[in-house]
Order: sequence, then C-alpha cells, then structure tokens
Amino acid sequence: MEEMLLEHVVEEGKKIAALGKTATYIPELGRMNKDYLGVCICTGDGQCFKSGDADVRFTIQSISKVVSLAVALERCGFERTFDRVGMEPSGDSFDSLIKLDLTSDYPSNPMINSGAIAIASHLVSEVSFERMLKFTRKLCMDEEIKLDEKVYHSEMGHISRNKAIAYLLESKGILENSVEDSLNLYVQMCSLSVTAASLAGFGLVLACDGVNPITGERLLHSWVVQTVKTIMLTCGMYDGSGKFAVEVGVPSKSGVGGGILSVVDKRMGIGIFGPSLDRKGNSIGGQHVLQKLSAKLKLHMFADNVPEL
Ligand code: GLU
Repeated sequence: MEEMLLEHVVEEGKKIAALGKTATYIPELGRMNKDYLGVCICTGDGQCFKSGDADVRFTIQSISKVVSLAVALERCGFERTFDRVGMEPSGDSFDSLIKLDLTSDYPSNPMINSGAIAIASHLVSEVSFERMLKFTRKLCMDEEIKLDEKVYHSEMGHISRNKAIAYLLESKGILENSVEDSLNLYVQMCSLSVTAASLAGFGLVLACDGVNPITGERLLHSWVVQTVKTIMLTCGMYDGSGKFAVEVGVPSKSGVGGGILSVVDKRMGIGIFGPSLDRKGNSIGGQHVLQKLSAKLKLHMFADNVPEL
C-alpha cells in the first residue's frame, strides 16, 4: 500500500478542512479540534495502513445508524424493519421533519434521524444497549469502544429537534416504544467512541460480506450486508449522497462527529476522522481524502480492471 499516498492526501485534506466547522449544535462536539484528520485502510489479509490522526477517539454519531439498521434486519427481518421506514434518499438535511410531516407517512430511510429513531424504537424491545455496544465492538474489531458520557449528556441536553421528530413519529403511530426510550437508545448509540481504525475494521467486515476475515467468524447475514451497503450508497452521505456516489463511488456513511465509514467491496474498509464539516454535515477533509484515494487506487464501484481480494 502506498503509505506516501496516504500521507500526501491527508496533508492536502488538512488544508481544505480549515474551511469547515465542527458540529456546534451539540456543544461537546463543537469543542473538538477541527484540525484533526486521519485515515485508516484495512485489507482482507489483515494489514492496516494509517496516516494522520487515525487513533484519536471521537463519537460515531450517525455511523451508528448502520449498526442499528443491521441489527434491526437481523432481529426483526426485512418486512418488519421496512414496514414503517422507507428506502429512498430524502434529499433533505439529516434532521429534517418537513417531508415526514407534510408529504409522507413514514421516514424516507434509516440513515436520517427520523428513520434511525424509528429503528431505535424497534430495537428497544429486542436488545439492550449493552448488547448493542458489545456487537459494535465486534463489528469494528475494537474492544475499547465505550459510551462517551460527556457527548451523551451534551446531546441529551440539546435534544429538542430530535424530540420534535420523535413526537411526530409517535403521532403517526410509527414508534414501537416510548419517545424517551427510543431517543435514549438512539443517543447512546450515537455517543460510542471510535477511531478511524475502528471504522476501517467495520468497513472490512462489510466488504467481506459480513465475515471478519481475520477470525473467519460470520457476524451478519449476506442479505443484511447487501441491504445495508445499498442504503449506504444511496443515502449515507446526507443530502450529498448523489454527488459523493459519482465522485467516490463506494458505499459510505458519515457522522457529525467527523467520521466516515467506507466499504470497498471485496477489497478493503476505510475509516476517516476529520471533524471539520461542510454545510451538509460531511467531513471536508475526509471527502477530499476519499476522492483522491478513489481516483488513485481505482476504488469506484464502476471502475475498470479492479483487483479482487
Ligand atoms: N446524534 C446526532 C443527531 O441526532 C447524529 C447526527 C449525525 O451524525 O448525522 O443529531
């Protein structure tokens, strides 16, 4: 792997990242140093390549929506999971409630807040937070993942908008559990502390069809992984998903903590940490790194002559 390439793209990305801002609507996230930028790539033969701030802990935020969707599909099945959550990109910001209120009876997809809160309400009666935490550690191959109490309390103290979404969901009969319990699990999952390296591990498991290639253990069914990767591709980068799919071309999910999880099918998992965000909530430096890596390493899912694992 071209370690020099990683160093170079991170250096470039750091310059561009100066233009963005951290997610100040959750005060604890606003305090994060926006100059951080790190990338980690894990390949199927167990090698990991890192550059920049790849081992700094930050909160997973919306990337946890991928874990929750996968667990919901495993536990509740396809029909029940998508009974009251759609599979279409919304084209709106992640915390929008406009379509949900005016033109639709259910959230557009599980990668926006309304969809993820609905999924969390399914999960409340299925699985405890502790089990979700343990499973996230396995998926990310990172036993150090834990709840970041500071971020959890900071978000719970500034939860008005998500409460509004949750009450709207309740009024439409979409929540399976109380507003309080659904939001609590949702915010706990968003507050898990990961690194770019943990996200790369998770990406690798998804790239390998749900199997941890190091231990050989199957963690997710094939159909679950296929569903999750497709939703990541179409809806994973907020209302920037279309442009990102054209420019980078790999299923990805971002979070307002600055993380991006990317899956290069049958080849590698990529994790990014760069808390300086654009207006849509995506890491500016992270997107730059992924665009450059995609071009140089032919990562786009429709690129020609791609070597397989
Ligand atoms: N916890 C964040 C929220 O609900 C997650 C948003 C995100 O990362 O997109 O606002």
